[in-house]
Amino acid sequence: MPLSIAKKIIDFIFKNTPCEEKIDIGFFGGEPLLEFELIKKITELIENHPSFHKKSVELTVVTNGTIFSDEIAGFLNEHHIGFCLSCDGPPFVQDAFRRFTDGKGSSTIVTDTIRRAKETLPSVLVNAVYHPETFQYLPHVVEYLVSLGLKRIYLNPDFSAPWSKKEAELLPEIYGQISRQYIDYYLKEDPHFISLIDSKIAAIMREGHKPHERCRMGTGEFAFTPSGNIYPCERLIGADTGNGHCIGNIVDGLNRGRMLCKTDPGSEVNTECLSCSLKDYCMNWCGCSNYFSSGYYNRVSPFLCAAEKTAIITAFNTFQTLEKKLGSVFFNNLLETHTADCMTGE
Ligand code: SF4
Ligand code: SF4
Repeated sequence: MPLSIAKKIIDFIFKNTPCEEKIDIGFFGGEPLLEFELIKKITELIENHPSFHKKSVELTVVTNGTIFSDEIAGFLNEHHIGFCLSCDGPPFVQDAFRRFTDGKGSSTIVTDTIRRAKETLPSVLVNAVYHPETFQYLPHVVEYLVSLGLKRIYLNPDFSAPWSKKEAELLPEIYGQISRQYIDYYLKEDPHFISLIDSKIAAIMREGHKPHERCRMGTGEFAFTPSGNIYPCERLIGADTGNGHCIGNIVDGLNRGRMLCKTDPGSEVNTECLSCSLKDYCMNWCGCSNYFSSGYYNRVSPFLCAAEKTAIITAFNTFQTLEKKLGSVFFNNLLETHTADCMTGE
C-alpha cells in the first residue's frame, strides 16, 4: 500500500468516525507482517494525526503466525497493538488447510510463534477457523489451544465451505462438548474466553444485541486494500478486482448503492427470523457470513441459522449451570472477561 493511499485512508477514518465512537484499525492480509516496515510507518501516521487520541483508537495485527521476531514484539508492545493469530488447532487440523506453497504444514512454526508471543506480549488472541472436514474436532481444537496457554479463543466457521444437514445435526453434540469444557475450566478456577459461548452469554446478559453492537458494514465498518478500494468487510475483498463487493475507492469516494445488488430485495431478513424467539441474540446481521452461505447480505442460510440457534441455546444452558454452581463468583469472572473484551476492542 503506497503511503499516500494509507494517509488518505487515515484521514477518511478520523473524518468519518463520530467523536463519541472508538476507532478499531486492524492490519490484515494475506499476511500483514510481511510488510512490517510499512506497518511501522502507517502506525506513525495514525499516531501523528491531529485527531488521534490514545484512548479512542485500538490497533490490531491479524497474522497467520508464520512471521514473528523480538523486534515485532517490541514494536507491538511499545505501540499497544493487539495481536490476533490464526491457528486452527493441533497439527492434524492446522495442516489440513494452512500449508505453505510447497505443501508443507505450518503447524510447527505457528506453534512456536504462539509460545514466543505468549512470553513477550501481554495478550494473545487466537482465531480458529473450522471447515466441514475439521468441524468434528472442535473440542480437540479448544483443548489444544488451552494447552498452549491461550486464554482467548475465537472459533469461526468457514461459511464459504459447503456445510450440509449432516454437520447441522452434529452441532448440539459438538457445542455441548465445548460447553462442558468451558464449565470445567470455570470450576477449576481457570476460566477461558471461548467466543462461541462467551459472545452469546454477553448477548443474553445484555438482553440481546444492542443496535450499536450490530455490524454496520459499509457504513461504520470498512476494509481498504492497497489499491485504495473500499469494501464493506475484509472477508469480501477476494482478488480486489474493484468489482463484486467493492463500494468505492479512497480517491474517488464511496458508492454505497453498489451494496444493494447483493441484498435480497424481497425482505430485510428471512421471514422466519421475524417471529423467532432468539432473534435478539442472533448474529443474522453478519452480511459476509450470509453472503457466503446464501448469496445475499441479508439472507441467512439453513446451516448458519442452525449454528446460531445451537450456540444461543448452548450458551444459555452453560450460563444457567454456572450460575447455579458458582453464583456471584461466576458473574465476577464474567465481568472481568468482558471488561477485557471492551479494552481490546473486540
Ligand atoms: S436463529 Fe435462525 S430463525 Fe432465529 S433469528 Fe437467527 S437466523 Fe433467524
Ligand atoms: S460482515 Fe460479519 S465478519 Fe464482516 S465485519 Fe461485519 S460482522 Fe464482521
